[in-house]
Amino acid sequence: MIMFNLNNKVAIVTGGSRGIGKAISLKLAQNGAHVAITYLGSEKKAMNVCNEIKKLNRKCKAFCCNVADFDDTKKVIDGVIKEFGTIDILINNAGITGKVSLAFLLNSDDFDAVINTNLKGTFNMCRHVYPIFVKNHTGKIINIASVAGISGMAGQAIYSASKAGIIAFSQSIAKELASRGITCNAIAPGFIETDMTANVKDSTKDSIPVKKFGSPEDVANLAVFLASSDSDYITGEIIKVDGGLNI
Ligand code: NAP
Repeated sequence: MIMFNLNNKVAIVTGGSRGIGKAISLKLAQNGAHVAITYLGSEKKAMNVCNEIKKLNRKCKAFCCNVADFDDTKKVIDGVIKEFGTIDILINNAGITGKVSLAFLLNSDDFDAVINTNLKGTFNMCRHVYPIFVKNHTGKIINIASVAGISGMAGQAIYSASKAGIIAFSQSIAKELASRGITCNAIAPGFIETDMTANVKDSTKDSIPVKKFGSPEDVANLAVFLASSDSDYITGEIIKVDGGLNI
C-alpha cells in the first residue's frame, strides 16, 4: 500500500538481505523508491529481495559489502551513483549482536567486531554519502539503533554501547547537517521477530506491555515516514518501536 511519495527517490539499505532491512527495502520500493541493498553473507537472499523489488517496477541492485570496512563502503556509494545517478535516502540497518555474555568475559576481538560493524559501519556509510547529500542540499539518514542503546541490556553491554553510540552520533550529525537540508533520525526497536531474536525466550513477551514481539514491518512503517518529505521538520529524534518495552 502506498503511504508516502518516494517516487523515483534512490535509497540505500545496508543489510537489506534479511529481517528488518529486507522489510524496509520492500516498503521503500512499494512507496516508489529505487533501492540499492547491501549484504555480507546472504547473497541468495539479497538477490531474492532484488527480484521482489523489480516486480514492483522499481530498480534494485545488491552490493556485497562489509560495512565495517571504510574502503568497501566507499565502493558501494560509488557503485550506487554509477548505477542510479544519485542518492536521496540512507538507511543504516546492518548490525550484529555479537556474543551474549557478561562484558568482562569478552575479549578485544569481541568488542571490535560489534563496534566496527554497528557503530563504525554507520559512520562509514554516512561519511561517504555526505558529499552527495551536501551537494544536493537534501538527504535523509535513518540509523537503526535499539532500546538497548537507551537503557542498556545485561549480557549485551558492547551491543548496547554500539547502539548508544549510534544514538549520540545521529543527534550530533543532525545538528551538523540541519542547515544543509539533511535530516538524521534513529529508530530504536525493541524485540522484533527476525533471525537476530530467534533464540530469545518466548517468556520475554511477558515483559512487553503489548505482550508480543514486533514485526520487521512495524519498523519499516516508521522508516518510510522518516525517509519521506512528510518528516522534513523532524531531525535528531530517537523513536522507539518497542510495544512499550522501554516506557
Ligand atoms: P538480522 O536478521 O540478523 O539481519 C542482519 C543484517 O545485517 C543482514 O542483512 C546481514 O547481512 C547484515 N550484516 C551483518 N553484518 C554485516 C556487515 N559487517 N556488513 C554488512 N552487512 C552486515 O538482524 P535484524 O533483526 O534484521 O536487525 C537489523 C538491525 O536492527 C540491526 O542493526 C539490529 O541491531 C537492529 N535491531 C534489531 C532488533 C531485533 O529485535 N531484531 C532490535 C533492536 C535493533 P547478511 O545476511 O548478508 O550477512
